[in-house]
Amino acid sequence: MDNGMIRKYQKAKQYAEERARFKFQSFSVEIDGKNNPHHVSYENGNWQCDCDYFIGRGSCSHTMALEIVLQEMLEEEAEQE
Ligand SMILES: [Zn+2]
Repeated sequence: MDNGMIRKYQKAKQYAEERARFKFQSFSVEIDGKNNPHHVSYENGNWQCDCDYFIGRGSCSHTMALEIVLQEMLEEEAEQE
């Protein structure tokens, strides 16, 4: 890496530690579940999952797992019990 690239990399590492800088707007992920793969998507603070448990509850082990992975990187939502 040349000096310019090294400086960019150092800046990138600093950004990566400052998770609040990141605001995910949308993404989709396939999670390799215990029985089947599941498709989870996130759009402007709203989760979707194609598993049965998610229907009517708005949350499931797949969306929760992603919240853990992306800790502090998603927009704060009102707690829903
Ligand atoms: Zn699910």
